[in-house]
Amino acid sequence: MAGEALIELRGVNKYYGKLHVLQGIDLTVGRGEVVVVIGPSGSGKSTLCRTINRLETIESGTITLDGTPLPEEGRALAGLRAEVGMVFQSFNLFAHKTVLDNITLAPVKVRKQKKGAAARRARELLDRVGLAAHADKYPAQLSGGQQQRVAIARALAMDPKALLFDEPTSALDPEMINEVLEVMQQLARDGMTMVVVTHEMGFARSAANRVVFMADGRIVEDRTPEDFFTAPRSERARDFLSKIL
Ligand code: ADP
Ligand code: MG
Repeated sequence: MAGEALIELRGVNKYYGKLHVLQGIDLTVGRGEVVVVIGPSGSGKSTLCRTINRLETIESGTITLDGTPLPEEGRALAGLRAEVGMVFQSFNLFAHKTVLDNITLAPVKVRKQKKGAAARRARELLDRVGLAAHADKYPAQLSGGQQQRVAIARALAMDPKALLFDEPTSALDPEMINEVLEVMQQLARDGMTMVVVTHEMGFARSAANRVVFMADGRIVEDRTPEDFFTAPRSERARDFLSKIL
């Protein structure tokens, strides 16, 4: 399944003051792969996502995106960062902009797309996430599940090489979780490269090529879902699974 590496972390260390939050992380995500990241609260999953996108600096190690090392800062970083979309727990839509404007904003400003072309593409993406009828609404007029699907469409509008999801369904009422997971499943089937932090083990089982289990800033296991769920090797993973399954 794993083709060439699209995202590659080698020996990545990050500190918050004295807290060694990422401890020598080695992680490769192949093109078209879906990697689900799980682990206890505070284990560094969100920091890992933010690090992959250089929203956080690192103290040592390398992060490579599609063969290009991610620079620390500057214009080159902004360009590379735009190639990895991010979807957060809390949607982060602009409340005072319509759904359509939320989606076209970055393509027009950052990618210099023409407004008409960006709007046409936004409508296609809204159709893809099942929200074709909602283009002119404001975020507050939508349910949480609908808002999160807009956030996914917004990320897709930048034509990213990969998408990072940080607990995309954790803030949703239970009846809205599946509509978001279904969109993510479809993206996975379409070949999108995805790193997904989630507690939805059904999604991990059905969509992930690999499950990465983190604890205390380290990757403790990195295996196929089948191997991981049927026979977790580490005590930490067994303990974690016994609490959530
Ligand atoms: P997870 O997403 O797995 O719950 P996080 O990556 O959010 O874990 O956090 C890992 C550790 O880093 C936690 O101990 C958290 O308190 C700490 N941490 C996260 N963000 C910051 C920050 N901006 N400053 C200081 N400590 C932080
Ligand atoms: Mg987190």
